[in-house]
Amino acid sequence: LDGEKIRWEMHVPEMEDSVLKGLELSSDSDIRAAWLQSVPPRDKLALYRAAERALREGEDHFSHEFRVRRGDGSTLWLRNDVSLTATNETTWSVVVVVTDVTELHRAQETIQNILQNARCVLWFADIRHDPSSVNKLVWNFRLPDPAAARRLVDVDTTDEMTWMAGMSQEDRDAADARAFHALTDRLSGYSQHFKVVDRHGEMHGLFEEVTLTALGGEVWSAVGVITDVTSQQKAIQELKASQERYRSFVEHLPVGVYRTSSDGRLTLANSALLTMLGYSTLEELMETGPWVDPNREAFWERVRKEGRVLGREESWVCADGGRLSVRENAMAVRDENTGEVQCFEGTVENVTERQKTYDLIRRQATHDPLTDLPNRSMAHAELDKLLVDAKATHAKVGVLFVDLDKFKEVNDIHGHGTGDRLLVQIARRLKRATRPTDTVARTGGDEFLILTPDIIDADEANRLAQRVRRVVQEPALLDGQRFELDTSIGTVIYPRDGEDPETLLRHADIAMYHAKSQGGGVRGFTASMHEEMRERVTLEADLRRALTAGEFLLYYQPQMDSVTSRLVGVEALVRWNHPERGLVPPMQFISLAEETGLIVPLGEWVLREACRQGAEWHARGIGIRMSVNVSAKQFAQRELPRIVASALDASNFHAESLDLELTESTLLEQERMVETSIAALRCLGVGLQIDDFGTGYSSLALLRRYRMEALKIDQGFIRGIRESQEDAAIVRSVIELAHTLGMLVIAEGVETEWHHECLRDLGSDFVQGYHFSKPVPAEQILPLVERFGLAR
Ligand code: C2E
Ligand code: MG
Ligand code: MG
Repeated sequence: LDGEKIRWEMHVPEMEDSVLKGLELSSDSDIRAAWLQSVPPRDKLALYRAAERALREGEDHFSHEFRVRRGDGSTLWLRNDVSLTATNETTWSVVVVVTDVTELHRAQETIQNILQNARCVLWFADIRHDPSSVNKLVWNFRLPDPAAARRLVDVDTTDEMTWMAGMSQEDRDAADARAFHALTDRLSGYSQHFKVVDRHGEMHGLFEEVTLTALGGEVWSAVGVITDVTSQQKAIQELKASQERYRSFVEHLPVGVYRTSSDGRLTLANSALLTMLGYSTLEELMETGPWVDPNREAFWERVRKEGRVLGREESWVCADGGRLSVRENAMAVRDENTGEVQCFEGTVENVTERQKTYDLIRRQATHDPLTDLPNRSMAHAELDKLLVDAKATHAKVGVLFVDLDKFKEVNDIHGHGTGDRLLVQIARRLKRATRPTDTVARTGGDEFLILTPDIIDADEANRLAQRVRRVVQEPALLDGQRFELDTSIGTVIYPRDGEDPETLLRHADIAMYHAKSQGGGVRGFTASMHEEMRERVTLEADLRRALTAGEFLLYYQPQMDSVTSRLVGVEALVRWNHPERGLVPPMQFISLAEETGLIVPLGEWVLREACRQGAEWHARGIGIRMSVNVSAKQFAQRELPRIVASALDASNFHAESLDLELTESTLLEQERMVETSIAALRCLGVGLQIDDFGTGYSSLALLRRYRMEALKIDQGFIRGIRESQEDAAIVRSVIELAHTLGMLVIAEGVETEWHHECLRDLGSDFVQGYHFSKPVPAEQILPLVERFGLAR
């Protein structure tokens, strides 16, 4: 170092195959001349600067690249690696290794072109150990395209390594440490993230990947690629945040959520699921697992196949060993690329309460709330099942249709509360009389159905029915009152009496109906019942038609004064002129008309026709009385007095000439109603009579309470008075009783003169019967009037 200047003395060793060969340098002066001629001034200056700095700073090495123009006009890029060794204060021995780096520069240029448009920065560096500090490195960076760095992150600096200016000291230290460790551990490279703030103050996340190559002698070459990962990092952060939100969402969902591995092992359970099952941690739950279903494996298989299974209900085990009814939705989560199942995810809802409510509702829908017996629909479903089993095993099934007799009266007389309690008792008794495998169901108000599977024969069903009847007959005590009930039971046997539930139940109903019409008891179904039933059904249809078709007519039977034998009045008796059957007597259709309610319009027609006929006779000077039968159903109609009034009005018939015949059972119906109706009819001036006295309750109390105008002794007693002393005595006392109560007496069924005389002697006021005339059409009454004369 000569003052400010550096003086060079150069010695070029013998070079056989040297990069400098093409320059044909052989001596010091050659080199200097070549240097002066061929190296662009800018590069020369740069060398001086580098050398100066190295000498001043006391560095022992520096490197430097420069261009050499050759004679043929081409340019070489050379690199000097310069080692300095001080010999004294101002003199250094310098060893220069010159390397042709032209190819490298070309490559760098190509890379630079490529990088021009890439969103990344490429750098090269030589790294050496800092001899002054054990764990420090000296970096010699080269950036092939400083503009690229600007493009990536525009940092407010003139530094070549632009983004370095924007790095925090912390990141720089960390980068150093990482590189240092990579070098000492002899790694082939490393990568790191760091942040850089651009001149707008915006933060960039950069990612750097560094490849290291050991050059020997504690020197390395490094290549780094830096990319801006701000948007990726943002995306990752957002993803993380959204994952966190999702996790927290799942955690706080009110339904249980789980995830499993691909083989169905539990890997996640949210707190709702843990709480539901009574666990505090996932680990505890994993130890036992909530699945008791041995087919869980098959379930996963199904989820795997179908992708998802929704709404599966099953029972899970809780921490305390209890069971929960749960509803589960499960789905298989697949890898997007491979399509393989990665895990299963599912939601779980505790439906125990819902199940309980559902069970309750189902019980309410299938059971009678009063007796807790299965109801009709349940009984029918049960019968369906029994028949399927019986078909398979060739077994017999018995079906008992049980209907309590006259239970309506209990309700009417004692109120529904008592009726209900009686029904509960009966239900219990029925359970007692049957086997545990039998089904006892309540199918209606006072109707029960008993299904008894695996019976041997009809006798067994019959024996069961008799036993059931006996338990019903046992007197019941309620509120100090004694109730004696009876029942009508129809029995059928599968398969003899029907092969399907509908037929069996219909036939059981028919058999029960027959039992009932015969005053109660047990009846097995027979084919003839079916015939009768069918007949009834057609008759009912015919009956409905008959009224509008005008097929009804009235016959009249005279009633005579028993002393004078003169005609006092007539009883109107309905006849049905059936187009095929001819004249049908009322015994064959009145009860059916009563059951079907047809008696109401029919009775009204009778009333109007009788009044019309009576008025016609009166108009012709035949002033006879007219008796009309009124059935209980008719009497129960609130409108009866109004209908009677309207019939009288329409015909102009005198109310005083009209008598209504009621039966005792009519008066037993709702007391209040009966009383008002009777009062209303009395107001009209209509006469009231009790028909068929002696066949029903023959209640003295009733006679006293209602004080009818007349009482008709049933023909059964009259027929018997000749043979039976007893009947004669009864007739005598009834007549006396009636007279005592101020009632007139009519004896019906008087068939002989003997009857007539006998009854006249006993004091019967009037007589009616075949002895005088059978019921006849209206036009035949005139001749009878002429024959017998009219009573005054
Ligand atoms: P009932 O009111 O007791 O009528 C008397 C029945 O005895 C009549 O039968 C009559 O033909 C029959 N009879 C009269 N004298 C003799 C006799 O000397 N010997 C015998 N063996 N029988 C005699 P019918 O006309 O068949 O009526 C039967 C029942 O049908 C009636 O009994 C009555 O309860 C009912 N009925 C008839 N017409 C009507 C009606 O228009 N409305 C209502 N609700 N019931 C009616
Ligand atoms: Mg009558
Ligand atoms: Mg009668």
